[in-house]
Amino acid sequence: MQSTMQDVPLLISRILTHGSTIHGASQVTTWTDGASGEGEPHRRSFAEIGDRAAQLAHALRDELAIADDDRVATLMWNNAEHVEAYFAIPAMGAVLHTLNLRLPPEQLTWIVRHAADRVLIVNGSLIPLLAPLLPHLTTVEHVVVSGPGDRAPLAGATARVHEYEELIAGRPTAYDWPELDERQAAALCYTSGTTGDPKGVVYSHRSIYLHSMQVNMAQSMGLTDQDTSLIVVPQFHVNAWGLPHATFMTGVNMLMPDRFLQPVPLAEMIERERPTHAAAVPTIWQGLLAELTARPRDVTSLTQVTIGGSACPPALMEAFDRLGMRVCHAWGMTETSPLGTVARPPAHVIGTPEEFAYRLTQGRFPAGVEARLTGPGGERLPHDGESAGELEVRGNWIAGAYYNGPDAEPLRPADKFSPDGWLKTGDVGTISPDGFLTLTDRAKDVIKSGGEWISSVELENALMAHPDVAEAAVVAVPDDKWGERPLATVVLREGAAADFTTLRAFLAAEGGIAKWQLPERWTVIESVPKTSVGKFDKKVLRRRYADGDLDVTRL
Ligand code: AMP
Repeated sequence: MQSTMQDVPLLISRILTHGSTIHGASQVTTWTDGASGEGEPHRRSFAEIGDRAAQLAHALRDELAIADDDRVATLMWNNAEHVEAYFAIPAMGAVLHTLNLRLPPEQLTWIVRHAADRVLIVNGSLIPLLAPLLPHLTTVEHVVVSGPGDRAPLAGATARVHEYEELIAGRPTAYDWPELDERQAAALCYTSGTTGDPKGVVYSHRSIYLHSMQVNMAQSMGLTDQDTSLIVVPQFHVNAWGLPHATFMTGVNMLMPDRFLQPVPLAEMIERERPTHAAAVPTIWQGLLAELTARPRDVTSLTQVTIGGSACPPALMEAFDRLGMRVCHAWGMTETSPLGTVARPPAHVIGTPEEFAYRLTQGRFPAGVEARLTGPGGERLPHDGESAGELEVRGNWIAGAYYNGPDAEPLRPADKFSPDGWLKTGDVGTISPDGFLTLTDRAKDVIKSGGEWISSVELENALMAHPDVAEAAVVAVPDDKWGERPLATVVLREGAAADFTTLRAFLAAEGGIAKWQLPERWTVIESVPKTSVGKFDKKVLRRRYADGDLDVTRL
């Protein structure tokens, strides 16, 4: 029997229309460089964003001949114009391709060519990054420049250069958005790929729509039009965790930091604009915490902070709790749109000592994401909170393949997708009977010592709880007797007195680390190397160790 319900395609244009009318008064505020005469933070209502998105779509279609599946790339910070591109491009039926501005130039070039981007919208401040690459970006016919920055380096480019504001000016503020197939490509984002070529994940209108509804659930971020969200997580990294779409559904005001991602301007933004929510990776929060400790500000508006992208160290969570900002930990990846789990503790532990332990997990799976664990021999493991295996997921906003060019079949590498189509996340962990995920490692970072697994993350968290330790990364290094053993690389705070013996004793006494898991190899480093999206780059540490580049002490 067929249902009797209407079947309205789940389209980005519907999110745009809803946000720009029903929530037309909500605002996107973009931070500016007051010092260099850019003036006050720049404010634009959702209604204006809707008008300008329509104008941009007209310009792309009528002036730059963008049609159907054409890819339009953005090389932009988080700001109002980037939000306009987020909606205009997919809503008109083209594909938004967000470029990660922190990738090495060769990778950026590779990605633009692979995606065959025809138009590239760039922030003026990023012209110095783009200009030297442009001669190699052979598919790019038009460059559209938005915001302050010297245009001179673009002189002589083969691609035609346009000014964003001039391009959209005077065009109609309404667009007859096409009724697309909801399964059609809406946005493209390449994984940061530490090994091999980057891989393209293509989100559909449907997957973005459903993911946005999930972001808005009370057990997820649960924001409303009374909130202002400081969106630090870049729009070029997994759609800023889906926040621009989700906020347009519910009228949440957006506070966009543009290029001002350093602790001082972030602290100023919070004090002045009084956001109620913020989203970023732990490294950003570590920096902000140091700034707020050194120069306290009024940050009382900010009561909810979403941390994800890498594990939130318990010490960081505690420190933010003390400042009155409640941290909510979340897990996800480019392939999962990204929100996979959010750590909202279950009702029965609220107010008990167990609550904190629940908050430290990666979180609970929402309806719509199914999860299973696979052991080293391919066996299914129970969700008992103890058996650790590789996490596999499936659901409506989870990738089922990678983009492989316009004429090629999508890629389904065996190390990324199971034969029955589940995504192999490469993350190792446990799942409790009530659906909370605890990650113990990346599959490639876990330390295999004498046939047992040691969690590098557990050691790092325990180390970072020591007051003298600013940051710590633990990597597996070869060992004749045990196969692999942990190497602790530690960044000490200024004036720190702790030595390795003290830290090792601290791991055992305070961190609860079993004796056989305690590292015997130690080294001090200046900072932990980070990937383009701010995660610990352990590959670099392993290489430095292999090259004899680290001054290692053996206890
Ligand atoms: P990306 O696709 O660049 O967003 O990277 C996704 C990966 O980041 C995941 O597979 C995890 O290894 C890691 N990750 C994301 N969130 C967390 C978290 N809350 N705790 C630990 N690792 C995380």
